[in-house]
Amino acid sequence: MIQDQEVLAAEMERTFIAIKPDGVQRGLISEIITRFERKGFKLVGIKIMVPSNGFAQKHYHGLKERPFFNGLCNFLSSGPVVAMVWEGEGVIRYGRKLIGTDPQKSEPGTIRGDLAVVLGRNVIHGSDGPETAKDEISLWFKPEELVSYTNNAEKWIYGQN
Ligand code: GDP
Ligand code: MG
Repeated sequence: MIQDQEVLAAEMERTFIAIKPDGVQRGLISEIITRFERKGFKLVGIKIMVPSNGFAQKHYHGLKERPFFNGLCNFLSSGPVVAMVWEGEGVIRYGRKLIGTDPQKSEPGTIRGDLAVVLGRNVIHGSDGPETAKDEISLWFKPEELVSYTNNAEKWIYGQN
């Protein structure tokens, strides 16, 4: 019983993932979604939007003292962004693993390692921890834009006991 509750709680972990304007313009939407989907994570929210500069500033508020902040916000608001919420056990931390870090330092096999060359055009954003995931999900999505559902593959991804 305790184990079932743990599994249930773990399955509820959610992270915010965004395909940035460079990823959208370069035709990488399906490529990026595929990597999360085939891992076994579950898509529970998705929309495409052009964030305003003010919205980008809110999203990146933690970086406002950094010299690249204005350029970063201009870039994020320069075109359509695909905003998503993915759910699964360990999705916050493992999502960051799928993403990689600096494109020049990321291993092949990661999204930034395979699909990006420079730091300022790194195709994807992912929440860096539970608190930022919570904040970013509520910045980008209304609760009613997120769906909870059982995916038939879950019993094969997680096992039943
Ligand atoms: P992330 O969590 O890996 O996305 O990286 P950070 O939270 O540190 O920075 C947010 C975003 O700012 C990164 O994804 C980059 O797009 C951008 N960025 C970070 N560092 C630099 C930098 O030194 N120069 C520029 N131009 N952009 C940066
Ligand atoms: Mg970050």
